[in-house]
Amino acid sequence: MSPVILFSAGAERFEVYAEPLRDALRAAGVSPRVVTEAAPEEVDYIVVAPGSGITDFGPYTRCKAVLSLWAGVERMVGNPTLTQPLCRMVDTALEAGMVEYVTGHVLRHHLGMDRFINRPLTGWEAGVPPLASERPVAMLGLGALGRACARALTELGFPVLGWSRSPRDVAGIACHHGAEGLAEVLGRAQIVVTLLPLTPQTENLIDAAALARVPQGAVLINPGRGALIDDDALLAALERGHIGHATLDVFRTEPLPEDHPYRTHPHVTVTPHIAAATRPETASRVIAENVRRGEAGEPFLHLVDRDRGY
Ligand code: NAP
Repeated sequence: MSPVILFSAGAERFEVYAEPLRDALRAAGVSPRVVTEAAPEEVDYIVVAPGSGITDFGPYTRCKAVLSLWAGVERMVGNPTLTQPLCRMVDTALEAGMVEYVTGHVLRHHLGMDRFINRPLTGWEAGVPPLASERPVAMLGLGALGRACARALTELGFPVLGWSRSPRDVAGIACHHGAEGLAEVLGRAQIVVTLLPLTPQTENLIDAAALARVPQGAVLINPGRGALIDDDALLAALERGHIGHATLDVFRTEPLPEDHPYRTHPHVTVTPHIAAATRPETASRVIAENVRRGEAGEPFLHLVDRDRGY
């Protein structure tokens, strides 16, 4: 009997995923039935996205894996009914999008582009920006996305200071970990990029004390999760001019409320959670490979560790 995949990530998404998912499953050599509704006890795999609808995974007694279309799983990882293996999305297109977002915004601040864009040039003296090699960048998070961004920045010449939970060894990057490592990385970075998952340990990591450690005028770029940042502390650091600019893609409340001070702050750039999106063609291949593995009894890719929370 063919396995059943319940696509529970929204009707609109199903419209764009149905075809690439069918093609990817065929290419992976598996032929499940992909449905948007099914009796829970008949479901072998569930494809989910945040807000997809299923809150109680208990009745899905036959389900071999819950496959997330999102990289960040903080809204699902604490669900006590979700006892099946949970796999997050690690997707080449997601990675490529994040590399473009991060390098683009790092280069904007590094080159001081704002001085010339949409403003008439007065005079002729503006000062030449330093080379990338003179601009240390901190990459908080050395996972799938952090490593890809760190590599791209290194290729552009930026010295990258990486930080992770456990010790990491990434070619060309000065890797640090733990509380001491964070102090070292923040103390030297002129641009700080946060690509950490949201967990109880990372919530409010960028607080007043962390912000005080970065050199005067440093720039913060956050495409990770909004709650990594203590918003009041960041606004205060921006007011003092200690943080020169913050480019923020993710927020505690999304959409960011109309009256939120970030929206009008002259030294904040708000982007509406567009840093990197899961793309149906590539993400479908990841889903299909995990279904193939499940059917072959092989270990799943990108399993979430419930204890770590990511
Ligand atoms: P990942 O592969 O799970 O990597 C997470 C990294 O964070 C790892 O290096 C991990 O350390 C580190 N980390 C976790 N907890 C830590 C702690 N307490 N202290 C220090 N380091 C810690 O995740 P990813 O695929 O790179 O994605 C990162 C995040 O990006 C996602 O969780 C999501 O929130 C966000 N995201 C945003 C968008 C967007 O459009 N804005 C799109 C996709 C993803 P270890 O290496 O030691 O495990």
